[in-house]
Amino acid sequence: MSAPSETPYPYEAPVSEALFDRASAVTPGGVNSPVRAFGAVGGTPRFMVSGRGPYLTDADGREYVDLVCSWGPMILGHSHPEVIAAVQEAVARGTSFGTPGAGEVELAEEIVARIEPVEQVRLVSSGTEATMSAIRLARGFTGRSKVIKFAGCYHGHVDALLAAAGSGVATFALPDTPGVTGAQAGDTIVLPYNDLEAVQEAFHRHPGEIACVITEASPGNMGVVPPAAGFNQGLRDSCHKNGALYISDEVMTGFRTSRAGWYGVDGVKPDLMTFGKVMGGGFPAAAFGGRADVMAYLAPAGPVYQAGTLSGNPVATAAGVAQLRLLDEAAYDTVNAVSAQIQSLVTEALSKEGVAHRLQTASNMFSVFFTDRQVRNYEDAKRQESYRFTAFFHSMLSSGVYLPPSSFESWFVSTAHDERAVQKIADALPAAARAAAEATA
Ligand code: PLP
Repeated sequence: MSAPSETPYPYEAPVSEALFDRASAVTPGGVNSPVRAFGAVGGTPRFMVSGRGPYLTDADGREYVDLVCSWGPMILGHSHPEVIAAVQEAVARGTSFGTPGAGEVELAEEIVARIEPVEQVRLVSSGTEATMSAIRLARGFTGRSKVIKFAGCYHGHVDALLAAAGSGVATFALPDTPGVTGAQAGDTIVLPYNDLEAVQEAFHRHPGEIACVITEASPGNMGVVPPAAGFNQGLRDSCHKNGALYISDEVMTGFRTSRAGWYGVDGVKPDLMTFGKVMGGGFPAAAFGGRADVMAYLAPAGPVYQAGTLSGNPVATAAGVAQLRLLDEAAYDTVNAVSAQIQSLVTEALSKEGVAHRLQTASNMFSVFFTDRQVRNYEDAKRQESYRFTAFFHSMLSSGVYLPPSSFESWFVSTAHDERAVQKIADALPAAARAAAEATA
């Protein structure tokens, strides 16, 4: 078993601790995606062994109400019987053929039917692949090299997009991580979010050079920071005025914030869109799509190369189709209602303890910033008192509520979050709010 945790929070998860020790011996940092390591909040990550409805059970046998939902995909809760049945049926027919299959067509048709700007779609296996391919396509289509992204927006670990440095206007990006060269990030222009003037200025300074603007449709990767009124429309207009493409990254918001994702909320029509998470039903399936004339540039129809051994995998597409078909208007009403209920419980508990906070929402996505000021961009988000979140997080965890282990992440709920789950959250909140109030930097 590992040495006692260095955090002041009690840990009674000996099996998770032992697994983390074993994992750390064979995997860098003991995890396969950094945020899972509890780096921002300290302590030992919980190793989960099963999920049912709104609950996760860890290797020590403790049950948690899950407010992460696999970072968004599990919008119907865990192990939804109809999704599991579709997966079992697909698995029984074989797991990968390396040929076209009917499931891919069904998933593509489902996406095209739900999201009007998507005339054609290409399936891939992760959100990272989707954004990487969309950027390549935009560059191939326009014959231009530069890309505008916004500080605090995450688009996966694409080399050119791992650059959030420079909050000044039209700052050329420095890579955020060793291993990404200046050349790889050198064509990326990073601008402050919600700042249309900065976008116009960048187009002015680089006439005929900017291939596209990529933005999270409504950002959830710096906490939830929705676009200001008119921001997405302004992006689209600036792009079109300057011969660039507007790419809306809906990997997180797609099929979550409404039946048609964030497009269904603000109606601003992108040239290209990217999807992942919900559309895979808990399996690795993602996509990019949009205008037919742009998608026609993609191989084998056109010259821009893009491919994938497991793209359109029959098990993943079966899960995705099953999940999307269950997501009707009534399902979104349910998720939105339970999200609103949890939001008001959180606000009430924190207010009662006098904890300065902002709860920001984007449809059923929400997050809590420990600050009394509105958060409009990444610089604002960084000004919060994150140490209060650490205390809040650990108190919730010890009461059996699993929050995202960082104050810069959205919380996610599902149609399966029922009265019992909400009650468990309500019961946990007073102590967590007190812990946040008493926390010191
Ligand atoms: N784009 C956005 C908006 C995301 O939130 C994420 C992942 O969280 C990605 C892209 C990358 O997706 P993936 O982790 O499937 O590569």
